[in-house]
Amino acid sequence: MGKLIVLEGTDGSGKATQCQALFEALSKEGLSPRKIEFPRYSERSSALIQMYLGGEFGSQPTDVNAYAASTFFSVDRYASYKQDWGKFYEDGGLVLADRYTTSNAVHQGSKLPPAEQEAYFRWLFDFEYRLLGLPEPDLVIYLDVPVDQTEKNMLHRQADTNTSGDIHETNTEYLRACRLAAGTAADRFGWRRIPCVENGVMRSIEDIHKEVYSAVKEIL
Ligand code: ADP
Repeated sequence: MGKLIVLEGTDGSGKATQCQALFEALSKEGLSPRKIEFPRYSERSSALIQMYLGGEFGSQPTDVNAYAASTFFSVDRYASYKQDWGKFYEDGGLVLADRYTTSNAVHQGSKLPPAEQEAYFRWLFDFEYRLLGLPEPDLVIYLDVPVDQTEKNMLHRQADTNTSGDIHETNTEYLRACRLAAGTAADRFGWRRIPCVENGVMRSIEDIHKEVYSAVKEIL
């Protein structure tokens, strides 16, 4: 089996940016990593995700319960593993994932009261890693960014890409709950936490990258 490294964090925390920087750094060393991202909006396996995030089941994230919404994202991951990167990984490849099962922990775990989160986390990881047979990450890097900063980052990205936010991205209260759930999951499951804001200011992409890179080199 290969290695699976996951970049995790709330929306707008810099996952795509750091995944790309890591991909370029490791590629330069001749390691030939493969980069994957979730959800796969361009694939049919994300149909239910698009309906959910587009508000077809309700305009609030909590209109779809944590378990139901989780399955939408889980089956997209299953399809991607079968169609795209499973063989590469099983042949020993190095896979860098922008989001993974851990994103369900963050974005769906947030919908549950703290007393019910542990049972949800156990269900989620058992469902995806054991029952669906998806690989467990070797390392989860959690980009820890306060919500006021991620909202600024998302506004920049939306301006750059001429897009608007989905039902997760436009709900500040929900995003705050996601950050709390992410912190709980990070502590509980040993995710490598990288604080990305210092003295109220977002650290530079390069500075964060150096920390991501050194965490990854520890396990390669
Ligand atoms: P995510 O994938 O977590 O949603 P992105 O990587 O798309 O986040 O980043 C969201 C926005 O913030 C993008 O416009 C990106 O260029 C910007 N960004 C990411 N990291 C930083 C950083 N360290 N400092 C300033 N802007 C950043």
